[in-house]
Parts: sequence; structure tokens; C-alpha cells
Amino acid sequence: MSNLPANLVASLADIKGFNKQAFEQVHVFGQQVTSIRVNPAKAVGTLSPTVAVSDEMPILAAEATNGQLEDANTDVGNTPIAYRGEPVPWCPHGCYLPQRPSFTFDPLFHAGTYYVQEASSMFLWEVLRQTVGSQTDGLKVLDLCAAPGGKSTLLASYFSDGLVVANEVIRNRAAVLAENITKWGCANTVVTNSDPKNFAALGGYFDVMVVDAPCSGSGLFRKDADAIAEWSEGNVLLCSQRQQRILADAYGALKNNGVLIYSTCSYSKEEDEDITAWVCEELGAETVRLRIDAAWGIVEVGDDGSKAYGYRFYPYLLQGEGFFIAAFVKRGGVEAQHRVQVLQKTTKEETAAIEPFVNSREELFYFRQAENIIAVPARWKNDVAILQKHLYLRKAGVTLGELKGRDMVPNHELAVSLLNSSNVAQIPLSLQQAIQYLQKKDVELSNLPRGWALATYEGINLGWVKVLPNRINNYYPVEWRILKNTQPISLALRHKSNIFNWL
Ligand code: SAM
Repeated sequence: MSNLPANLVASLADIKGFNKQAFEQVHVFGQQVTSIRVNPAKAVGTLSPTVAVSDEMPILAAEATNGQLEDANTDVGNTPIAYRGEPVPWCPHGCYLPQRPSFTFDPLFHAGTYYVQEASSMFLWEVLRQTVGSQTDGLKVLDLCAAPGGKSTLLASYFSDGLVVANEVIRNRAAVLAENITKWGCANTVVTNSDPKNFAALGGYFDVMVVDAPCSGSGLFRKDADAIAEWSEGNVLLCSQRQQRILADAYGALKNNGVLIYSTCSYSKEEDEDITAWVCEELGAETVRLRIDAAWGIVEVGDDGSKAYGYRFYPYLLQGEGFFIAAFVKRGGVEAQHRVQVLQKTTKEETAAIEPFVNSREELFYFRQAENIIAVPARWKNDVAILQKHLYLRKAGVTLGELKGRDMVPNHELAVSLLNSSNVAQIPLSLQQAIQYLQKKDVELSNLPRGWALATYEGINLGWVKVLPNRINNYYPVEWRILKNTQPISLALRHKSNIFNWL
């Protein structure tokens, strides 16, 4: 017997792909699926069945060490990182891990080298591939319900030459979103903390809008047992009303011919098919039919003459959690004209103090906000001003640092961004040292040149240190430090030969 809500199970009886017995079994006996999505800007190599990872390359692996930390540096040095594991079929950077390691004690996790994301959600990549395609240059993208940032980091990777606005209405969740976006390192991202209705003033602004709506969460029952107790028919109804409201409020911000992607982690028709039909009927959007490889196990709905196509993910048909996604194209709508006050450029002296720290292939625009100097790609400077006029900006681009007199005090955002200059000194840390650094403890290091330097692990930046004559100051942000003190399992980089039988 499962403890699944009987009313939920009964309500799904007639939905395509639903199998009561398999559904109940997967919640009782189902394996836990762990997957990560690699940051292509930080980690070398992608995962796809056609891209082989060479035997000599290090592999991300979890290895039980009975509480003893091992020094991964002695094995692999600063070789670029590649990940080996079974690929997620619909996302080139997605990878299943054979078991759930202790991500907390993997420095590469804190450095934004990968994001721990549920595999079904990564299907967003394939939806973008089929709707937007590869011409992403200059596109403006909104992730309306974005915290903690799983879809936003995927969007930042997909639209590396576009502008990604990640919005979260709840303040403390917006802080988590900003942290994850910061770690991902892309300068072409803006984090906002606004209500969906504030986006209407941006009339026809975005080329792509993702609405990963707050929902009743039944798709995550396997991962979150509390969600089972919290589920109710009343909440499904409330969620479905809120989903309509969010879509109606923000739809005006999408361009004519723009792409709308709607998703939930709920199985309920009221939050899935009923909403997608409503989007077509009430908002006038055009449904998009996707090509689905039969081997993926994804169930298409809407091929029975309904108003909209949608794609259901059942955990007994694929390696992933319950998920629903649908794509639309907007037809019609007007584009607002925006007159903005241009952002105030930094002075020559300020720019001279910053530049030794920064390296970017793309032209950057530097501006001041209070004491901080911020960098955004120059092509987006007016857009940042437009967004600032209508929304509450939690973060835009990369905060480079603060000027104290003529000296630059670099910001952590710069350390983990992709804008770092290779002229800045680097201090490679062992796994044990890296964890101490991330715990904001003192790290014992000797014979280092004085001044600012980047603490690195496996060639990836972790954060700043300042080497003084008699000590080393650890500048890792206190609010992000690792609080746990024990390491039941350490995540280490290993040569394939070491973990071959384990994988
Ligand atoms: N897209 C996220 C990801 O992939 O990591 C997950 C988003 S979660 C399903 C839905 C988000 O919507 C939550 O962060 C929640 O705080 C936010 N939310 C809640 N009420 C909202 C509202 N009325 N309008 C917009 N967003 C809302």
C-alpha cells in the first residue's frame, strides 16, 4: 500500500500514460535518481552519447572514504574536468550519477561547475532546441518563477549570447537564486525580485518566457515525502488559479512571435492540460508540437484534438521525476517604446583600477552602484536601465568590487564569474584545503606573493584571499560558507581506473 493521496490517484485515472499500479509501485520501491547538469562555461566536455570522454580525463565520482579526506590534486593536477556517467538523453550537459554523493563537500559544486538538477526538468533544453533553435544571439529571455535557479542556469548556458532575466517574487528565495546565478558566473544575467504583474510595463520585450509555475508538487513526491502530507484537492485548485493569474499578468511582456514555455511538477490536469488549453483560448497563443523520441518515455498529450500539446513525465517510464511541459508561440501584441536614463559610466581612473582584474572577449560596460563597480556586456547596458526602471533588480551582470581610494577590493562575484583576468595570482588548493577555505577557516599556506589572489580547486576559482605579511585573509562570503564539519563521503576527482568498477 502506498500513502499517496487517494483523490490524486483517482483523478489521474483517465490521463494518458497514467498507470495506477506502476505509479504506486514507483513511489514505494522506486530508485532515487540523482542527476547534475554541468556548466559548459566552467567544465570542459559535454555529455552526449556521441561525445566520448577520454580514458585519461578525470571523472567526477563520489567515493566513500570513511570520513577521511583524500587529496585529489595529487592524482589529477589541474586537468580540465569532464564528467562521466550515463547522459540525460534530452540535455547535452546532463548526467545521471550512480548514487547521491555529499555535494556539500565538493568544492566544484560551490564553484558553480555543475548544478544538481532533476533530469526531467532538463527537458527544457530540448524544448528550446526545437522552438528557438541555435540562433540565440541577442535574444532576451525571462524566467518568471526562477528560484532556486535550476531553469535559469540552464537558460544562461543556452542563451550565452543573449540576456537572461531570472525573476523570483519571494525575497529570501530571490537571494538563493542570486547565489546560484552568481556561481554560474555569466555576466549576461539579471536577477529581479518582482511580482509578475510588474512585467506588463515591458510590453513585447522578451523573445522567450519560461513560466515554471508554483504548483501542488505531486511530481516530486518521491523526493519529498512532506509534499504528500501537504497535498490537497483545494491546493490544486488554488495553484491552478494562481498559474492563470501569473500567466495573464506577465504575458504582455512577451513579443509577437515570442516563445512561451510553461511547466509544472504536478500531475494534476487542472495545473497542466487545463492551463495549456486556457493559454490557447484566453491568451490566444499557438500550441507547439514537439518531436519526441519514443525511447525517451515521454508521453505526449493533446493529440486527441485538444487545444494544446503537452509533455508528461512519469517516473515509471523514464529516469526522472514527475513533470509537465508545453510550448507556445505568441501571435500579436504590441512592443512598448522605452526611454531610459543611461547608466553612469565609471570614470577613467575607476576603469584603470578595475581593468587589471578583468578579462572578457565581449566588450563590457562598467557602472557604479553605490560603492560597487558592476560590469555588464556593453550591448545590454540600455536593457539593464530599462529593467531597472520597472523592476526591482537584485543583481545585474557581475559586481567587480569596491574602490577604496585607488585600490580595488574585488568582489566574490568576480572571483566565480567568467570575467576573471588570468593575470590575477592563483593559489591551487588540495581538496582538504578547499573545504577549509569554503568553511571560511584559516588555510595553512606558505611562501605566497602578497596581495589579492584567487583560491582555486582543480583549476576552478573558489574565491578571494588576501596574502598579508603575517597571515592570509579568507574572503569567502560568510553567508555561503559550509556549516557542516564532518565529511561522511567526500566527492573527489579520480582517474577512471580508480573508480571503474564503482561506476
Ligand atoms: N524554476 C525554478 C527552478 O527550476 O529552480 C523552480 C520554480 S518553483 C516550481 C516556482 C517558484 O515560483 C517558486 O520559487 C515560488 O517562490 C515562485 N512563486 C510563488 N508564488 C508566485 C507568484 N504568485 N508569482 C510568481 N512566482 C511565484
